Amino acid sequence: MNRGYVYLVGAGPGDPGLITVKGLECLRRAQVVIYDYLANPELLAEAPPAAERIYVGKKKGRHHSSQDRINALLVEKALEGRTVVRLKGGDPYIFGRGGEEALCLRERDIPFEVVPGVTSGIAAGAYAGIPLTHRDFTTTLGMITGHESPDKGVSHLDWEKFATGMGTLVFYMGLSNLPLIAEKLRLHGRSPDTPVAVVRWATLPSQQTLVSTLGKVVEDVVASNIKPPALIIVGEVVRLRERLRWFDNRPLFGKRVLNTRPPTGSAAFRALLESRGAQVISIPTIETVPPPSWQELDEAIGRLGEMDYLILTSATAVNYFFERLEAAGKDVRALCGVRIVVVGPKTGESLSAQGIRPDMIPEDYRAEGVVELLRRQARAGEKALYPRAELARDLIPKELRALGMEVTAPLCYRTRMPEAGAQQLRSLLAEGGIDIVTFTSSSTLENLMEMLGEEARRLLEGLCLCSIGPLTTQTAHRHGLAIDVEPDKSTLEAMSDALVAHFSRSSS
Ligand code: SAH
Repeated sequence: MNRGYVYLVGAGPGDPGLITVKGLECLRRAQVVIYDYLANPELLAEAPPAAERIYVGKKKGRHHSSQDRINALLVEKALEGRTVVRLKGGDPYIFGRGGEEALCLRERDIPFEVVPGVTSGIAAGAYAGIPLTHRDFTTTLGMITGHESPDKGVSHLDWEKFATGMGTLVFYMGLSNLPLIAEKLRLHGRSPDTPVAVVRWATLPSQQTLVSTLGKVVEDVVASNIKPPALIIVGEVVRLRERLRWFDNRPLFGKRVLNTRPPTGSAAFRALLESRGAQVISIPTIETVPPPSWQELDEAIGRLGEMDYLILTSATAVNYFFERLEAAGKDVRALCGVRIVVVGPKTGESLSAQGIRPDMIPEDYRAEGVVELLRRQARAGEKALYPRAELARDLIPKELRALGMEVTAPLCYRTRMPEAGAQQLRSLLAEGGIDIVTFTSSSTLENLMEMLGEEARRLLEGLCLCSIGPLTTQTAHRHGLAIDVEPDKSTLEAMSDALVAHFSRSSS
C-alpha cells in the first residue's frame, strides 16, 4: 500500500519571504497542508488550489488533546496515500513539538522528511537589530522555554546553571511567566542592569520591540501592554540594537497603506512601499476588461505597416496590444519601422518585457507630454496608432490631428468597478485598519468613493490621503476630500518618496 509522505516544514517566523526554498517546493507539491497559528496564512496561497487545507492552531491549556488529534490527522492523511505538508511556525524541531510528530510517524512506518525553518528566536534578533552572538559581548547562546509542560512547572529549569553560565538567553513562550523568569535570573546572579528585549510578532509589519533591563522589564511590559507571541532576549548584545536597527526604523514602518490600483502594476507599487517598511493592503477599486469587440484594434493591427508611430500610454494597453498582435498571427517584426512612444518609464518596462525598447519617452509622463514630444518630432501627414482606454481623455487624438497627423485610436480596453471588495473595504476602514490611502488615478478615487457609498467621507476622515498628481487631486477636491500628499512628478516612485518625506517631517 502507498503510505503517503509527510514533510515537516518550518514556515519561518512570520515574514513569508523567510520560508526556505525547499519548504516552498514542498508546499507547492502538497495535497494536504496542516498548519498552525504561527505559520503565516499567506503561505497557504502557495499550495495548489486543490490541496486540502486544515487549521490546527492550538488553544492555550489544551495542548495535550490537540497534539494527539494532530498526530492522528497526520497519520490518517498519510495513510490515504497523500503528500502531506505539516507547516509549522519557525523551525519544526525548536519548541514546536515536531519531534513528537516525527516519532509518531516513525512508529507507523510512514516516511517523512524534515525541512528546517528560521526559528523565531534567531529571526527576532536579526529584525530587532540584535546579533545574538558577538565576540565582544558573548560566545554562548541558550534557547529556553519560558513555559514548560504545565505538569512540570517552569521551576524545573536549571536556573543556577544558565543564569550566569550562558551569555545570551532567548526565552520562547515566556511572556506570561516573565515575572518569574526575571526573578529567577536575578536570584541566581544575573545583574538587574542586564539589558532585555521583548520582541512581539517578529519580522512582521506589526513587530513591536521593547528594550529594558532585567530589573525593570516586568513593569515596562505591563506599561506598554505587549502581549504574546513574543520572545524575550536577555544579554549584553541587546545594547547593539541602538546601532543596528534597520527594520522597524524604516520611514513607513507600521503604516498600513491601502493600494487601490488594478492588479497590473500593483506589484511594483507594493514592492516600493514595502521596501520603506509599509504594510500594503491591496484592494483594487478598478479592473480592466477587454472591449466589447476587438474589431477596431484588429483592423488597425492589420494596417500596422502604414503606421509611423505607435503610442502606448499604459502597461495594460501594452499587454492587450501584444495579445491581439499574437492573435493576428504576427510578432514584434510587424513593428519594424514603427517608432514607439510610451508615456513613461513604467509603460516602457512593460514594453521591454515584450522584447522591444521604446523609441521615445516624454519628459512629462502624461498625455500632455506625449503631445509635446510629437509636436517637436512628427510631421504633418504622418500616421499614428493609439490603442486607447475607454475613459481616456481625447487629448492625444485631438491635439495630434490639430498638428496634421492621421490618428487611429481603436478601443483597446475598458475599466470598471470590481464587483467584489466593497464590503471588505468598508469594514477595513471602519475598524481603523488603514493609515494611508493612495490614489494613482482619478478612476481609482471615483470608484473607491462609489464603493464606500454614503459613508465614504466619514470612513476616510483623519487618514493620510495621497494622490499621484494634479488631475487626481482635482477629482478628490470635487468629492470634498483634502489631499495630504502629492508628489512633484506623477510616478509611483515619486509618490512613495513624497510619503516618506511627509512622515519624516511629521515625526521630527
Ligand atoms: N517552532 C517555533 C516556536 C514555537 S513555540 C519557532 O521555531 O519559532 C511558540 C513561541 O514562539 C511563541 O510563544 C513565541 O515565544 C515564539 N514566536 C514564534 N513566532 C514568533 C514571532 N513571529 N514573534 C515573536 N515570537 C514568536
